[in-house]
Amino acid sequence: MGENFDKLRKISGTVFDLASAVSLLEWDQQTYMPPGGSEGRASQIATLSRMAHELFIGDEFGAALEAAEAEVDPDSDEARIVWRLKRDVHKSRRVPADWVEEHEHTVRLAFNAWVNARAASDFSAFRPHLEKVLRLKLAYAEFFQPYESPYDPLLDNYEPGMKTSSVKQVFDQLRREQVPLVEAIAERADAVDDSFLHQPFDDRTQWDFGLQVIRDLGYDFERGRQDKAVHPFCTSFNKNDVRITNRINGNFFGPTMFGSMHEAGHAIYDQGIANNLDRIPIMSGSSLTSSHHASHGIHESQSRMMENLVGRSRAFWQAYYPRLQQAFPSQLGQVSLDSFYRAINRVRPSLIRVEADEATYNLHIMLRFEIELELMRGNLAAADLPEAWNSKIQEFLGLTPPNDAQGVLQDIHWADGYIGYFPTYTLGNLIACQLWEQLEQDVPNLSAQIAAGKFENLVGWLHENIHQHGAKFQPMELLKHVTGQGLTAQPYLRYLKSKYGEIYGLN
Ligand code: ZN
Repeated sequence: MGENFDKLRKISGTVFDLASAVSLLEWDQQTYMPPGGSEGRASQIATLSRMAHELFIGDEFGAALEAAEAEVDPDSDEARIVWRLKRDVHKSRRVPADWVEEHEHTVRLAFNAWVNARAASDFSAFRPHLEKVLRLKLAYAEFFQPYESPYDPLLDNYEPGMKTSSVKQVFDQLRREQVPLVEAIAERADAVDDSFLHQPFDDRTQWDFGLQVIRDLGYDFERGRQDKAVHPFCTSFNKNDVRITNRINGNFFGPTMFGSMHEAGHAIYDQGIANNLDRIPIMSGSSLTSSHHASHGIHESQSRMMENLVGRSRAFWQAYYPRLQQAFPSQLGQVSLDSFYRAINRVRPSLIRVEADEATYNLHIMLRFEIELELMRGNLAAADLPEAWNSKIQEFLGLTPPNDAQGVLQDIHWADGYIGYFPTYTLGNLIACQLWEQLEQDVPNLSAQIAAGKFENLVGWLHENIHQHGAKFQPMELLKHVTGQGLTAQPYLRYLKSKYGEIYGLN
């Protein structure tokens, strides 16, 4: 490697370290920090974020980037690193450091206000914070004029290269096919009983069972840990310290288990990136982070794959159900594997996104996407959000939330400044199924291996084709490289129709 590239790595490593310190402070805020710490924490994060940003857009970094670009072999990993840094530097240069500082300060306080407002189900307590966040996001979009949609600059931070118009196109196609499927299932709602999942399940036993499963999947606890938090998430400080959080529902078997598998899917990705690609900061949202992914859609494909394609499959429970029955003999001892499999896949329109079944999940995303678009176009004010939310959820899922905690206040994203993020969940669902079809071709007897509790070949394939590449490729480039195709909803729709056709006897 050349001298100029080494210099570039040195400065980008410093930016990365600042970004990881921010991630650690955020992790602490969401896990162990006492409530009194929130004001001080907001300042700490704002200061470090500003420092990272200034270094990143500074002349020294710019010169190092140009010198390195002239030096690297265009086909090398080094050239990919230069390409990614250059892309993110160009975006960051449009954003004033004052904005970054104010944004970070605002969202840290908004996060705290959201936790309290959600607990009290009081939207009015969160509203002034949300108004500030929105004002900052609208200002952010303006830095990127001219744009096709004011949503584009935000979306592009999570899904590099993706346009709002493409998301709309894919969502329209999905909605056309997914809504009739959900309606057909609703007519046969009685075909599946999941009442036995709704009873007391010991907290500790659930937690430990989930830990064992994700250890088996390949989450390395020498380089990771799971803690409790209000909202499950995964964060990485570098590839050797990747942490997840989860919450426990003591009266419903499902959320804790699938929450662990979901977050472990994210964590295994971050733990698996190649050593030479570690310690490169990337832009995510509107700030620099210490994560290393092609995009949030690709990241989400890994978590949704573990949660659903693995975790809600019959094969997986062939391996784990006897152990689960042993852990909960009085609750599940008399329940057959088939009844259990059907119950964990029961389709029922519900209010809470993170607990939604696979068939209705994307509808939750589509309604959020539509609301965010209206917010960014300035057609909807924060004050009118609860009403807009309630009318959309009625339109999409036929439900009325009893309160704002189970409605507009349920997600952390807007408090955290993550506007433009939601579409990546649905993209993740689609990508997971595209990858899975390829996996089934490349790994013979995949399903039999899972049924035997063997995940080495599955995870090995993901490491080889996705994880190790970190942020080296654009998401759609990576997808095409691995599957030979761009983004398509077809594998996902095939999967849904076949799985739920069988469970609900629709075929
Ligand atoms: Zn996720």
